[in-house]
Amino acid sequence: GSVMEKVLQKRSLRMRNMQRAWQESPEGKRMLEFRKSLPAFKEKEGLLQAIARNQVIVISGETGCGKTTQIPQYVLESEIESGRGAFCSIICTQPRRISAMAVSERVSSERGEPLGETVGFKVRLEGMKGKNTHLLFCTSGILLRRLLSDRNLNGITHVFVDEIHERGMNEDFLLIVLKDLLPRRPDLRLVLMSATLNAELFSNYFGSAPTFHIPGFTYPVRAHFLEDVLEMTGYKLNSFNQIDDYGQEKMWKTQKQLAPRKRKNQITALVEDALSKSSFESYSSRARDSLAAWAPDCIGFNLIEAVLCHICRKERPGAVLVFMTGWEDISCLRDQLKAHPLLGDPNRILLLTCHGSMATSEQKIIFERPPPNVRKVILATNMAEASITINDVVFVIDCGKAKETTYDALNNTPCLLPSWISQASARQRRGRAGRVQPGECYHLYPKCVYEAFSEYQLPELLRTPLNSLCLQIKSLQVESIGEFLSAALQAPEPRAVQNAIDFLKMIGALDEKESLTHLGKFLSMLPVDPKLGKMLIMGAIFRCFDPVLTIVAGLSVRDPFLLPQDKRDLAGTAKSRFSAKDYSDHMALVRAYEGWKDAEREGSAYEYCWRNFLSAQTLQAIHSLRKQFNFILKEAGLVDTDASLNNKLSHNQALVRAVICSGLFPGIASVVHRETSMSFKTMDDGQVLLYANSVNARYQTIPYPWLVFGEKVKVNAVFIRDSTGVSDSILILFGGALSNGIQAGHLKMLDGYVDFFMDPNLSDCYLKMKEELNKLIQK
Ligand code: ADP
Ligand code: MG
Repeated sequence: GSVMEKVLQKRSLRMRNMQRAWQESPEGKRMLEFRKSLPAFKEKEGLLQAIARNQVIVISGETGCGKTTQIPQYVLESEIESGRGAFCSIICTQPRRISAMAVSERVSSERGEPLGETVGFKVRLEGMKGKNTHLLFCTSGILLRRLLSDRNLNGITHVFVDEIHERGMNEDFLLIVLKDLLPRRPDLRLVLMSATLNAELFSNYFGSAPTFHIPGFTYPVRAHFLEDVLEMTGYKLNSFNQIDDYGQEKMWKTQKQLAPRKRKNQITALVEDALSKSSFESYSSRARDSLAAWAPDCIGFNLIEAVLCHICRKERPGAVLVFMTGWEDISCLRDQLKAHPLLGDPNRILLLTCHGSMATSEQKIIFERPPPNVRKVILATNMAEASITINDVVFVIDCGKAKETTYDALNNTPCLLPSWISQASARQRRGRAGRVQPGECYHLYPKCVYEAFSEYQLPELLRTPLNSLCLQIKSLQVESIGEFLSAALQAPEPRAVQNAIDFLKMIGALDEKESLTHLGKFLSMLPVDPKLGKMLIMGAIFRCFDPVLTIVAGLSVRDPFLLPQDKRDLAGTAKSRFSAKDYSDHMALVRAYEGWKDAEREGSAYEYCWRNFLSAQTLQAIHSLRKQFNFILKEAGLVDTDASLNNKLSHNQALVRAVICSGLFPGIASVVHRETSMSFKTMDDGQVLLYANSVNARYQTIPYPWLVFGEKVKVNAVFIRDSTGVSDSILILFGGALSNGIQAGHLKMLDGYVDFFMDPNLSDCYLKMKEELNKLIQK
């Protein structure tokens, strides 16, 4: 120990010298001036003391007051200043990878260092850190993963769990694990940070841990609700007939006939009437769905455009932040605005986007000030709500929605709907306008709708399927998943837990006694959904790795096939060209990706994407994720270093189909042919529909008795997104119980993949299987 001790002491002194040199340099001084202006700075000494004296503390303070960038940095600086810099190791978790990256970059520049020196980051499949890194920003998922192999977090001195008010699944999960860990690590310091005031909930969870509030200063922001917005912009409501599809004819047809002057009050009255029939919470699902389908997708981008025009023509300078539901909406609106004579003029408007999958270079621009007389307009998802602070925002446009997954445990179906945000989120969004001067916030929904919002959002743990989570819990060597989860801040329904356990048993990740199988262990190490992890392993075993890699990467990023509202049919036709009678969206994806690679080589990638309604950005993301998965599987020894060996059977369509089936099971639907139409039934007899741009939706008949699919989503009916046709024998061979036989011992199998079906219990299937396998090989 003492040699090590000396080395660390020496390093600590060097760290102190470097820190002092920076603080005394002109740039360092300027930076320090800025940092001193943040509200957190006034509390610095108190915070450091509270952290030193208590094992757990909860800090709350408004977004932008300096929690994330400052407080972990204060701890780092004070350790360095006291000559203990090399002995401390601070981790600060973020719910999203993009904030972990942005924040670490910011903090290292505040310290005048390159990223990856004292300050680094680590997110799924990416990171910048070195042996001198003592403050690491990572996603909560990364810390959980570390806890799997290092249950006591040896060597870590401080853990900050940030943005806990969001109640993300990983954060709630982390808190259970950390609470259990604290007694074993009395020297470890845990700091929870939240943007809202409800700190007691967390404090109570940790046996009345002290709370600390950072009083912030923000300028007042005036709230304008839909009534005022319509009046202000003179926006005509005629476009409301767009929303007839959503079963609201009555409400809006009356609306259309009203004189513009009267509309304002009428809107309030109509919505109030709808709401008064029952409380918002217990609203009948149909009425609620139609209400949910309302803004802004239905009011249309036109209203947002009108508000933007209003701001640009009539208002003072200042950036505009527009909260939208997702990337699709953002890119559609961006295209629409680019074609607008005022808003599309780059000499007057700097139009930017901010969402989870943007590139790091894009990220930096949103913080920069635009040239004089140019107004910055940022179209953002709710990511800009709390984790990212853009200082010069004066105007906020809030559509009132966020796309969130909810989970219907009874039907075991995830639902992806843009749903109303909570009052807390709406306030948060509004607050973004008051950072540098008094601001304005345009809420595109009536005041009475705001009043009907729930106060806080439901924790993610209670609204998502728990498959991956339960697998991770199991790999923490937990006996009973149910018992473990009952220790959460708010425990999920037993039904939801049971569904996840059943699922994990079904895919062979857990055995009958709920213990982790070898397959389960592998899957818990792969940073993908367990189903997709299984598909990857199968693709490696069966030597058709490349196409499977593309499919898995595609399913974990998003669909690269675009579906513009006004060109649905053309887009569908373009996509079906990639299907070539495969009856498979997954194969279409593989072909589209490979075509893009070829086009890139020939320098025609842009035209290729344009012609085929493909998103170059998504293809690029798939491309890099592919590389990363490939790397991980190589590290784990699951694929050969010789790529041609891994792809010996990649050309074999039927085999790829079989591997897709093995991964997606039990996502299967039977194809029921009627005289003129087809319908699709899932195992539990539920009726499902195909997404409009599925290649399978374009056929009259499908020559396969089954479709396997990745996920079903409840929108207004239950839909399956991507599907692939499979035969009976493939289903018997690769769906469910049989493929569970494939465990770690078999993973070394190379070409002789018949062997692991040699179990004597399976002898009556065996002949059929052998026949099928021979067919597969010979094709
Ligand atoms: P909190 O975590 O309390 O929301 P942060 O620590 O993220 O606050 O940010 C504090 C302040 O630092 C912000 O108000 C902003 O002025 C500034 N800031 C943060 N990130 C950046 C960045 N990437 N570029 C420029 N300024 C930034
Ligand atoms: Mg923060």
